[in-house]
Amino acid sequence: MPRRNILVVGAGPVGAVAALACVRFGHRVTLLEAQERIDDSPRASTTQPPTLEILAELGLIEEYLRVGLVSRTFQFWDRGTLTRIAEFDFERLRGETGFPFVVQTEQHKLANMAIARLGDASVFFGCKVTDLQHDDNRVSVRCENGEQFSADYLIGADGGRSTVRKCLGVEFEGYTWPERFLVITTKFDFAAALGCSFRNYMADPDEWTNLFKVAGDDLKGRWRAVYNTRADESDAEALSDAAVRARLARIYVPESERDYLHLNLYNVHQRVAKRFRQGRVFLCGDAAHVNNPIGGLGLNSGIHEAWDLAKLLSEESPDLDAYERRRRPLNIEYVQEQTVANKKRLEEKDPALRRQRFDELRAICEDPVRHKAFLMRASLLESTRRALRT
Ligand SMILES: Cc1cc2nc3c(=O)[nH]c(=O)nc-3n(C[C@H](O)[C@H](O)[C@H](O)COP(=O)(O)OP(=O)(O)OC[C@H]3O[C@@H](n4cnc5c(N)ncnc54)[C@H](O)[C@@H]3O)c2cc1C
Repeated sequence: MPRRNILVVGAGPVGAVAALACVRFGHRVTLLEAQERIDDSPRASTTQPPTLEILAELGLIEEYLRVGLVSRTFQFWDRGTLTRIAEFDFERLRGETGFPFVVQTEQHKLANMAIARLGDASVFFGCKVTDLQHDDNRVSVRCENGEQFSADYLIGADGGRSTVRKCLGVEFEGYTWPERFLVITTKFDFAAALGCSFRNYMADPDEWTNLFKVAGDDLKGRWRAVYNTRADESDAEALSDAAVRARLARIYVPESERDYLHLNLYNVHQRVAKRFRQGRVFLCGDAAHVNNPIGGLGLNSGIHEAWDLAKLLSEESPDLDAYERRRRPLNIEYVQEQTVANKKRLEEKDPALRRQRFDELRAICEDPVRHKAFLMRASLLESTRRALRT
């Protein structure tokens, strides 16, 4: 196999996995990260079956399972009445994958465990890329601290505000939602109180809530409640103690238990880069696309890209166009379309349409063929099968 020099910009979960995959395929890897440490704010945790397959190939799966929570099911709820509408069971995917479940492991754990296995790759923290040059033979970058690096190929995994993408002049087509998403981390046990699974989607015409259980760094378990804010709600109001406690009250938390551990507020976008490659430079993960997090797909698709790209760059004479040809349409069809549909399902305002959406979910759940087909798409297994044929 050819041994190539590969620069990876960004040591988020996608860059760290891309770097590890390239190391495993025998390349010389340099990983550059702007921050001094891995960001541990609460973002992705839901890891879908095809991503678990990749983590198994990379030798990460045992640790990944040990520091996360296995979740076989997910549930849809009507938040207004706090009643469960439907429960989907990944067991229906047995035979399609060796991992008929998702694992809830926080994304900073993945980045750290991948970096810990990089062996003799060079890893530089506090190295913010500010400038990029490339021609037919080489690609080189300059960092804010004056350091310069060059390589045969560069993987831009530097997140939604990607400097790499901006240096290439690639447009980030799409839009930003007017509302923001608020994450409240709490120790209140929604499984004991309401019978929630570790992943729950609660629909409500004014304010929906998604509830997830994660292990936490101490492995003692905690819940993340994700809400939409009102479009006209200021950051200060959304983050105020009174508003947070009122939000917890609306999902059953009794007054004595409304203390919380953390608050995080995120802007939410649906955007896809017009190009995923220019010359020897590739965009991967959030640098290439961003989406609302409902359904847990953004990071998963980024890891599929990282793995795909590492394999492609290991071919003797890689068809470099294949990356964008495969990955861009898959992101639009499976990630953008599904996350927008997921959001609409949760926030439907028309009562008749809401009832219709609930009835449809119940009907899909009760039909074994439709239940499995729904999960094949929602888990990205269908998209990974499609990628193999493209
Ligand atoms: C609330 C929330 C919940 C989510 N839940 C899920 C989920 O359950 N499942 C899922 O699949 N997705 C989920 N997502 C999406 C997921 O968090 C992102 O898709 C993921 O972080 C993308 O990883 P990344 O490595 O591409 O980018 P990032 O995590 O943004 O990492 C980019 C890295 O690049 C570094 N960097 C930036 N600029 C430079 C530079 N110029 N030079 C060097 N380094 C640089 C940054 O410091 C950072 O470390 C969620 C998002 C949010 C907000």
